[in-house]
Amino acid sequence: MNFAHASLKALRAALDSKQVSATELAEYFLARAEKALALNAFLHIDRGLTLGQAREADARIARGETTALTGIPVAHKDIFVTRDWRSTAGSNMLADYVSPFDATVVEKLGATDGKGAGMVCLGKLNCDEFAMGSSNENSAFGPVKNPWNLAKIPGGSSGGSAAAIAAGLTPAATGTDTGGSLRQPAAMCGVTAIKPTYGRVSRYGMIAFASSLDQGGPMAKSAEDCALLLDAMVGFDERDSTSLNSPEALTPIMAGFLAAFALESRADAGAPLKGIRIGVPKEFFGAGLADDVAGAVEAAFAEFEKLGAVRVEISLPRTTLAIPAYYVIAPAEASSNLSRFDGVRYGHRTKNYRDLAEMIANSRAEGFGAEVKRRILTGAYVLSHGYYDAYYLQAQRVRRLIGLDFQEAFKSCDFIMGPVAPTTAWDIGAKNNDPVAMYLEDIYTLGVSLAGLPGMSAPCGFGNGGMPIGLQIIGNYFDEGRMLAAAHQYQQVTDWHTRRPEALR
Ligand code: GLN
Repeated sequence: MNFAHASLKALRAALDSKQVSATELAEYFLARAEKALALNAFLHIDRGLTLGQAREADARIARGETTALTGIPVAHKDIFVTRDWRSTAGSNMLADYVSPFDATVVEKLGATDGKGAGMVCLGKLNCDEFAMGSSNENSAFGPVKNPWNLAKIPGGSSGGSAAAIAAGLTPAATGTDTGGSLRQPAAMCGVTAIKPTYGRVSRYGMIAFASSLDQGGPMAKSAEDCALLLDAMVGFDERDSTSLNSPEALTPIMAGFLAAFALESRADAGAPLKGIRIGVPKEFFGAGLADDVAGAVEAAFAEFEKLGAVRVEISLPRTTLAIPAYYVIAPAEASSNLSRFDGVRYGHRTKNYRDLAEMIANSRAEGFGAEVKRRILTGAYVLSHGYYDAYYLQAQRVRRLIGLDFQEAFKSCDFIMGPVAPTTAWDIGAKNNDPVAMYLEDIYTLGVSLAGLPGMSAPCGFGNGGMPIGLQIIGNYFDEGRMLAAAHQYQQVTDWHTRRPEALR
């Protein structure tokens, strides 16, 4: 069995049948990660820590106390704090930071207290600094390379997560999505990811970028793997003031996944998606969308139609307004969140200062990278007296209208589908000097984030130069189980999600 590209279910079966131990699996993936250091996907690996967790998992398996995930390796985006591994958020500001506690997501997936799912942590994954970016070039620790072509970006900000899954360095990873950072790198590396409904996954211990948008989620090879992971990640957390506690928010993901489309009984094997209406927003197919991406997404629609779904034209009229609204709101919240990094409460402290004001100013000047500074400046500006109404408040109004557009659309469809990004992965360095060109790449993902809706990306083909393309599936609030089930049906009749770069098979 090729563990590198095996499904989580197959790994579970291998662990349960004693074909492999958690320790052997951890050794296997650590060896792959160490061999692939050139990708720069991992920021911190610590064999001792990983193997310690693997031994605990093996003991749990021996006692018969397993969950679906016990003993399976996972790696965390370095925006989730971990008690043992350093937590840097891709920033020099936190280069040596060790957290006194684990993020809720780390705790829920992990093994340390015997209560979590019992996954074995392989280490921490590279990302854009404080999750700000679409290419992973904003990491203070260097860009991640796309396993499909080392000259290309992997997408961002969860680029380390996507590259690590695509290269088979870990079977599962966490990521976060504020404006597309789970969906877009997944699309660009040919893997599957889901950003859940805002409030379903705890933000406790997730280093904050824009708190009203940040949402953690899983990345893996398939929709089924993502369902298993998300099922273990969700839940009410009193330590996060925006964590949801309603009955719909507490419905287990796997229950929704298995109930949808008779996944277990396969009653309608030929046309499992019969009656499902797929809304296709015309605004997602306008100028700027590359032909190769449009073609692959069209072909995916045809597959969904073969599965019984019907296609309906819809409109999301304020699609283009999502960019200015997001790039006002996200920097505003970032400027506030990042004020804690002053060399006193948190973060790097300069050696070069004469008084307190200079100490704070120089610590921030040395600790933050260019994109983070750009966002802090933008954010402070739009929140300042005299500009607040014109920019910040206006952006909040637009945000509300964007949410209403989605609700209007969901009156005539079950899911909304379209591209994740207008192009496939570009060359490292190509857009680095033009922040606005980079921001425009986020056009299809930002609206979902502003509305707090769940959105996922599933591989749907390859474009020019053999680079992966992702299909975006957007659902209404709390519909993650059904979205993942629909993607799973698609993945039963296509094999895009199983393709791997030749050199890494
Ligand atoms: N690309 C977007 C940004 O730079 C989204 C990032 C994210 O989702 N974390 O803000």
